[in-house]
Amino acid sequence: MSTLNQQYEEKVRPCIDLIDSLRSLGVEKDLALPAIAVIGDQSSGKSSVLEALSGVALPRGSGIVTRCPLELKMKRKTDGDPWFGKISYQNHEEEIKKPGLVEKKIRDAQDKMAGSGVGISDELITLEIASPDVPDLTLIDLPGIARVAVEDQPVNIGDQIKRLIQKFIQKQETISLVVVPCNVDIATTEALKMAQEVDPDGERTVGILTKPDLVDKGTEDTPVRIVHNEVICLKKGYMIVKCRGQKEITDKVSLPEALQREEDFFKEHAHFQILYEEGKATVPKLAEKLTLELVQHIVKNLPHLEEQIKKKIQKAQTQLDRLGSGPPLDTAERLGFLIDKVTEFTQDVICLTKGEDLKCQFRSNIFFKLRDQFQVWKQTIDSSGNKFNQNIQKEVAQYELKYRGRELPGFINYKTFEAMIQDQIKKLEQPAVLKLMTVSEMVKEELCQLAEKSLFGFPNLIRAAKMQIESIRNNKQETAESMLRSQFRMEMVVYTQDSRYSKKLGKRKREDEAARTVNWVFSESEATLKEMMKHIKSYYQIVGQRLADQIPLVIRYYMLQELAAQLHREMLQMIQDKATSELMLHEDSDIDTQRTHCMASLKRLSAARRLLGRFSMKM
Ligand code: GDP
Ligand code: MG
Repeated sequence: MSTLNQQYEEKVRPCIDLIDSLRSLGVEKDLALPAIAVIGDQSSGKSSVLEALSGVALPRGSGIVTRCPLELKMKRKTDGDPWFGKISYQNHEEEIKKPGLVEKKIRDAQDKMAGSGVGISDELITLEIASPDVPDLTLIDLPGIARVAVEDQPVNIGDQIKRLIQKFIQKQETISLVVVPCNVDIATTEALKMAQEVDPDGERTVGILTKPDLVDKGTEDTPVRIVHNEVICLKKGYMIVKCRGQKEITDKVSLPEALQREEDFFKEHAHFQILYEEGKATVPKLAEKLTLELVQHIVKNLPHLEEQIKKKIQKAQTQLDRLGSGPPLDTAERLGFLIDKVTEFTQDVICLTKGEDLKCQFRSNIFFKLRDQFQVWKQTIDSSGNKFNQNIQKEVAQYELKYRGRELPGFINYKTFEAMIQDQIKKLEQPAVLKLMTVSEMVKEELCQLAEKSLFGFPNLIRAAKMQIESIRNNKQETAESMLRSQFRMEMVVYTQDSRYSKKLGKRKREDEAARTVNWVFSESEATLKEMMKHIKSYYQIVGQRLADQIPLVIRYYMLQELAAQLHREMLQMIQDKATSELMLHEDSDIDTQRTHCMASLKRLSAARRLLGRFSMKM
């Protein structure tokens, strides 16, 4: 016994303490901790087992008695220390003076949480008990699986309960304690099926047989075979216990007395004696086994736990970064904070319009989008040019038909072609303006998104930025449009300075050697029809190239560069005003709550990590 105790103090205690400390840090809010959940059909004896383990009477009876998950935290004290009890749920916390009051307090709590009827609730009631007579264990008592709904119960009560049970047992951190009475067929036990579903390898399922005193005469062999793992095999095996039956409760048999009776029962039982000898029977043996199982489970789960904590810390840190530190309280600092915030945003806007990397986590692809848009623009020009060439060809053919046989076949009215060219160029004006509008809309969208990201948490500031973006871009778009329209008006002056042209013409017209200007005044002797055609085609090419660059240039200049520069000025000007700047600093109230929450979680998790680190060193 003393070696067992020693082993306990060396191995078991630290593990239990570790989980306990993690629990008291509140880490359970962030992740699941190793725990034992008790599941079984209604009236299979779950509460009785807990009661025997904890030494305090719990609400019991027929029908659905456990209506909320009850977390029973037991802490072993040294001999002679007084009993301590505490119940907590929702915001309520209350010390319980003596064991006899526990049952009533739990009933009250359940009525408050799940209503006084027969409904159930997902919310946890926590009962803490510290005494020299309890094992170091935390167990969760769950509502029993109802085979049929009784009067007043919602018809889906069975599903509700199953869902609640699943919520607990599907966690890898939970050991499922499946309670099965000896007098029912284990193969039909719903709880065992559920446990096997979430833990097919039986790594974390322990079976408990109850009511061995109620086993039908002649079938005593079955429980023995089950405990020997010969019927439905569980890696962690089975235990068998006998608790107080209804009659013993009515007779007010005390819990210690009941333990004595249990021991006698097994010792003297013709069939179950062997289980007692093997250490697989009685409540104290169960307590021992559960403690060891829990400790093993904890040790096995430690790496997973550490991993989880690490991940959660990272997540909280990222979130905290995203939330930022919030505005300072000092008035002067507040303005500085706002200026920094706005500057950072407008700097990012400028970077965005230059295609440089941004400070805030916003990946802009406006440059790709614009490149696409401008490529399409170039294609518009080209395909329009192809059509144009076909038209000239037609025109020339007609012309030749008209004047064939005349003395001066080369004569052509230049005006005709000038009009054609002008017509053709005019066709590009509307597409150019449309392009401007498309790009303007894209830029606006992109900048608004950037504002949301960069000024995250300050809804007023975001709104103001968006309004500025909208009004400045309207303004710039107007200017750009009139610029584009003038460009097209200018293009009506048929003009180029292309040296290729000058050379060509120079050959023909010696006297015009130095001319850099093509005035397109030809006489019938100076140009043949074919040459004229060539001239016109290449002139369109030149205009096309010019517009392919010029239109995007105007759009980019006004819609990116100018817009960004003005936004920068206007935003900074806007916050000069004291009242406005205070308004802009108004933080999203959600953000503040989130930040507090996140910081608390980070603090807990970091403490948990330190705790685990220290523990692993000792192991
Ligand atoms: P729960 O619904 O699973 O929590 O079941 P309870 O613990 O409330 O028990 C249901 C009934 O079975 C109660 O009347 C208990 O007294 C009775 N009971 C529990 N364990 C035993 C046992 O080992 N032997 C006998 N005879 N009755 C028991
Ligand atoms: Mg119960």
